[in-house]
Amino acid sequence: MDVANKRVMVVGLSDSGFSAAKLLKKLKARVRISELRRDDDVKMRLKLLDAVEFEAGGHTKRFISKSDLIVVSPGIAPDAVPFRWAKEEAIPIISELELGYMFCSAPIIAVTGTNGKSTTASLIHEVLKANGINSFLLGNIGRPICEDILDVPCESVVVLEVSSFQLEAIKTFRPKIAILLNVSRDHLDRYGSMEEYRNAKLRIFENQQHSDYAILDYDDSTMRRLSGKIKSRAFYFSASRKAEGGHIEGGKLLVGLRGRVEEVCGKKDIRLCGTHNLKNVLAAAIAVKIINEKCDIAGPVRGFKGLRHRFELAAEIEGIPFIDDSKSTTVDSTVKALESFSDGNVILIAGGRDKGSDYSLLAAQIKKIKHLVLLGEAREKIRKALAGFGVPIADAATIREAVSFSRKIAKEGDTVLLSPMCSSFDMFRDYKERGEVFREAVFEELRTAGAIKI
Ligand code: ADP
Repeated sequence: MDVANKRVMVVGLSDSGFSAAKLLKKLKARVRISELRRDDDVKMRLKLLDAVEFEAGGHTKRFISKSDLIVVSPGIAPDAVPFRWAKEEAIPIISELELGYMFCSAPIIAVTGTNGKSTTASLIHEVLKANGINSFLLGNIGRPICEDILDVPCESVVVLEVSSFQLEAIKTFRPKIAILLNVSRDHLDRYGSMEEYRNAKLRIFENQQHSDYAILDYDDSTMRRLSGKIKSRAFYFSASRKAEGGHIEGGKLLVGLRGRVEEVCGKKDIRLCGTHNLKNVLAAAIAVKIINEKCDIAGPVRGFKGLRHRFELAAEIEGIPFIDDSKSTTVDSTVKALESFSDGNVILIAGGRDKGSDYSLLAAQIKKIKHLVLLGEAREKIRKALAGFGVPIADAATIREAVSFSRKIAKEGDTVLLSPMCSSFDMFRDYKERGEVFREAVFEELRTAGAIKI
């Protein structure tokens, strides 16, 4: 698409909107910005963009309707007013992901799913790099695709973390390899139903052709049934059953794409906890082997420690591990975290802003919880959902209070786990800040325990 001299409206000046605007400027489009906020961050970004037309502090129909194309940030819901106006005026709308894709000449490995996207995308990127392949890690993971796409050579590989929000406004986005890790309840504050949410995720396969690849979870019957409905060649990963793609047998992760099955690594090579992470590694290994069958998986997997705030040990205080799983913003990821423990040993710190979740699904692992410490806006909803299970529940106004209380009640053999099941936006800027505040609180406890002397 030639955007030169076109009036392109970027709605929302988040990180991805900002990157889209910078790319459009480089492409000589007549960039215009419409942003709801008018804070220092927005002012600074507008200044950096230099000489673009903008409105900040609200959207107006008059401003938005004078556009040839609209690029939306993922944070803006499809029923937001700017889109209603754009539809009335028949102005095409695309996501920042679609815009970046239009200027990408390298093959894309796109990773989506409710949980595990960042872990799996990072792992693929690390494995490719370790095998001498020039890989770019972009997308939802922190660096928007529009940020770097003009500098990506065609002989490299783009590993792209993709959210359902970004997939909502694609038109031609066609990854060479599309991975759908899992779909569990999430974002039901944005989507009307699970079906709507799943359909947004499935758009990752929409433009794929026979020469492309899909990687799916064989342990999920809905995913197994998909292979007939997508054009690309489907490979599967499974924790227990033989699947055309990859599976786990004994202590080995096995991958077989074109008949020959080979061991890519052993369970013992993987430093991440839980079966869900073994499946993430399998999905990553299949993608890498599609790119180049000769790639070594075991070496780079051994060196991969996992990402910050994902089931990460913050510290041990008098033998009690304090684990930071702040990135767990769904019930399913907290269920997966609890799977790693024995019964009655976990003091779980949870809560935050609800995303339309069903907390009764925690029942699957409720026996692991010795005490629940609740924080944030979702407290009452979680308490109600879990009231019948007989787990003692305490309230905490702050993370500091939650950590101190947990330390007081913890006994030998217990673990304190921050795994909130909710977003962080009621109390923090994001999950990273929540994780850092947790770690500071744990270090404060360490100091009072006399384990750190300043
Ligand atoms: P995402 O980018 O999809 O949010 P992350 O890799 O950042 O995924 O992990 C988010 C949370 O989900 C963490 O708590 C992590 O331990 C957990 N997790 C990772 N992989 C999976 C998986 N396959 N299924 C369920 N939970 C997972």
